[in-house]
Amino acid sequence: MAKTAPDRLELVQAFINTADIEAGTDSLATPAGLEGWLVERGLAPGPPDPPECDGRELETAIALREALRALCLANNGVHPDLAARQALDAAAENLHLHLTARFGRDGMITLEPDETGVRHALGQILTIVFGALHDGTWSRLKACASESCQWAFYDHSKNRSGNWCSMAECGNRAKVRSYRARQAG
Ligand SMILES: [Zn+2]
Repeated sequence: MAKTAPDRLELVQAFINTADIEAGTDSLATPAGLEGWLVERGLAPGPPDPPECDGRELETAIALREALRALCLANNGVHPDLAARQALDAAAENLHLHLTARFGRDGMITLEPDETGVRHALGQILTIVFGALHDGTWSRLKACASESCQWAFYDHSKNRSGNWCSMAECGNRAKVRSYRARQAG
């Protein structure tokens, strides 16, 4: 079963998964990596007007990504330890992404990024998260409970009980581990 999030939330899922913790790779390791990803996903215009990312914006992007991963872990019932929470607070202080609220006649509030370039693109990611909080899909975007994985997946199950990015891999590994622990104990 595909564990892909619906609509624009897939973009947030893909953003979190730009870091593959298990493989130790990160598409956002360099400013050029971030620029390329934003253009590829339609969050920033390509040539002749590509985004120009500086080191500070790259830090902001990574801080945002890791904050979102922590929230997705919380959606999976996994709560960050104190060190992770402190790192997150420090990251949050660096975010400073400005959003403007717009009040529609239909009684809805929408948020729009009040920024340009890379910061505008990151603001857009944040507005998708707000939209998903609003329509109830956010709580289904989870990070895999396997500590060495933490891959973002969308829990399509009826009772929202999914814990693993894919049963074939992480879920089975966890089962084997607890089986071995039972055998040993
Ligand atoms: Zn996993």
